[in-house]
Amino acid sequence: MQEEKTSATIASELEGLGFEVIRNIGAFGLAGIYKNGKGPTVLIRTDMDALPLEEKTGLPYASKAKAINAAGNETHVMHACGHDLHMTVFVGTARTLVKAKDQWKGTLVMVAQSAEETGEGADLMFKAGLYNKIPKPDYAIALHDNPNLEAGKLGYREGAFLAGVDMVDMTVFGEGGHGAAPHTTKDPIVLSAQMIMDFQTVVSREINPLEPAVVTVGSIHGGTVHNIIPDEVKLQLTLRFYSEEIRKQTIAALHRISKNLALAAGLPVEKIPVIKIRDPYIPATINDVPLTKRVVDVFSKNFGKENVVEMPLYMFGEDFSRFGMQSIKVPILMFWLGAVDPAKVRSAREKGEQLPSLHSPLFAPLPEPAIKTGVRAMVVAAFELFGNP
Ligand code: ZN
Ligand code: ZN
Repeated sequence: MQEEKTSATIASELEGLGFEVIRNIGAFGLAGIYKNGKGPTVLIRTDMDALPLEEKTGLPYASKAKAINAAGNETHVMHACGHDLHMTVFVGTARTLVKAKDQWKGTLVMVAQSAEETGEGADLMFKAGLYNKIPKPDYAIALHDNPNLEAGKLGYREGAFLAGVDMVDMTVFGEGGHGAAPHTTKDPIVLSAQMIMDFQTVVSREINPLEPAVVTVGSIHGGTVHNIIPDEVKLQLTLRFYSEEIRKQTIAALHRISKNLALAAGLPVEKIPVIKIRDPYIPATINDVPLTKRVVDVFSKNFGKENVVEMPLYMFGEDFSRFGMQSIKVPILMFWLGAVDPAKVRSAREKGEQLPSLHSPLFAPLPEPAIKTGVRAMVVAAFELFGNP
């Protein structure tokens, strides 16, 4: 939520093209509205945020930016998720659609949001009443770059596209004391270890094996020195899911397991673990099936079937999901934009190596043909949805 300059740049780009721009809708979120006669309203969304990483791509235009993070410390900043590529495509799409305005009729709404990475940006825009400030969209579309797909290609999936995400903070309590006298304590480190192992059975033993789900404990902090048993341990978990029922089942299992292991360790009821679920969570991104079929069809016609690839399901999350989940139901579609040098994809496959993932300090999308492919894809999708003959 520090995209102040980025957001100003995008706003002035859109204003320069004749869009009416509404600024500061949820942090630095903005919406540009371009009315071009009677017809459908199509919303195109980009994210704007970067990540606290030092870029190590060695590219001449590698980020040298620094910022102050939420904890008040200076940190490097890098577009390691490719949101700079998304914004470039977004501006290119707006320019192209305005230039070609005699070829379509309707209302184009270009939305740029803050804080996709934390899951807060879209939620803040809707809490600020985004859909009351802009014409009601008939469709909302977005793209995300993909670190395994060749630049020049597009990827899609009907229905389930990206997972829902929860971030969980858990405090496990104990009764501390001397490391040489464990019998006089209730050791929260041993208790946390039991919990972490039992959490592994939530997905493997409790959830229907046909339902995708993840429980990852990503951080554990407790204690100060060798010979003190501490009073508490802090755990941080992420949960991934595709359905609200699985989400509820997983959270309930964490409560049940942690509470009963604490009681089994002899702790009183007041010392059962405290579980905090970050609000907002990120709902799963589910692509509207008829909308996906329609857009994939025009992609295939424009790019050739061999360049429009059905992609696997991932357990990453995206808060673009919220654009389809308001009191106004809007069909949404997010698709993948190939971002990697085809030669690198080929050699990685041959050698069985991994390419730098999103959020890696080495992630470097190939600007061309990725940018032009993204702009063309958005423009042909918009033409189709506006009913361009
Ligand atoms: Zn990301
Ligand atoms: Zn991203």
